[in-house]
Amino acid sequence: MRPLLILLILICASPPALAWNAAGHRLAALIAWQQMSPPTRSFVATALAGHPDHGRWREKAGADDPALVFAEASTWADAIRRDPRFADETAPPLPGFSDMAAHGDWHYVDFDKRGKRGRGQIDRKILELREILRSTVKTEEISWALPWLAHLVGDLHQPFHVGRSEDRGGNSVLVEDPAARQPFVKLHAWWDDLPGSSGLRGKRLQRRAGELLAGQPTPEQGEVGQWLRESRRLLARAYPATPGSVSAQIDDDYRTWASQTAERRVTEAGYRLGRLLEEIHRRRVSRETASPRLKPER
Ligand SMILES: [Zn+2]
Repeated sequence: MRPLLILLILICASPPALAWNAAGHRLAALIAWQQMSPPTRSFVATALAGHPDHGRWREKAGADDPALVFAEASTWADAIRRDPRFADETAPPLPGFSDMAAHGDWHYVDFDKRGKRGRGQIDRKILELREILRSTVKTEEISWALPWLAHLVGDLHQPFHVGRSEDRGGNSVLVEDPAARQPFVKLHAWWDDLPGSSGLRGKRLQRRAGELLAGQPTPEQGEVGQWLRESRRLLARAYPATPGSVSAQIDDDYRTWASQTAERRVTEAGYRLGRLLEEIHRRRVSRETASPRLKPER
């Protein structure tokens, strides 16, 4: 079959990639954990313990370590896209879930050539989830919103999650990577895999998070709009320009730049998520102290 035809079939037949792979999210979560005070960690661990899928996360983490459970929880928003419980979004919610929708368009936002927003709502959802977590007194809602927020802060730091409508955030761009097993790779998915193997867990995961914390600068916190603009700016260089046999090719310079950029973005996401949760918890404590009669509903 001719290479161009293979390319077209590959582009048309495969579903869009969704996020940093699980390794990227777990790394960001462990880095976030390092930024949190003991009371905030306890708030997060208690919220996750109230989530219907807590047992699954503990099993996957292979430990009761709340940081590793938090790392698994940060991949939940992707996992539900392959979960039969979330196949029918009109189904009545199971206990502990707000709805049974997988919310695929929460993971990204696309922009057209003039910078006008297209599909996707990632930045808006981060703001909404932050507001829910700051203010709700419903423990079920906290348990539901927290894994979502942890996931989306990670995704927002992946440049192709704020990409171009015309190529569906790099999902319809195939590139040639001489180091890959397949001849063509979707550019979006190639970036998703940069932080490491999706099976990265346990001690190796903790070691890698430690390396990123030690090797990357501490970012300023900024705000959601800034995180989005930073990712948008990276897009200018994120399309490989070296010609390959059919499509553009990943060369050594590009690979080095992209790997370093992904490491930095995952680390930034981690710091920012940790501080955001710290701020959310502080607000909750000061509000509860101001109105002591406000008891959380169960
Ligand atoms: Zn995602």
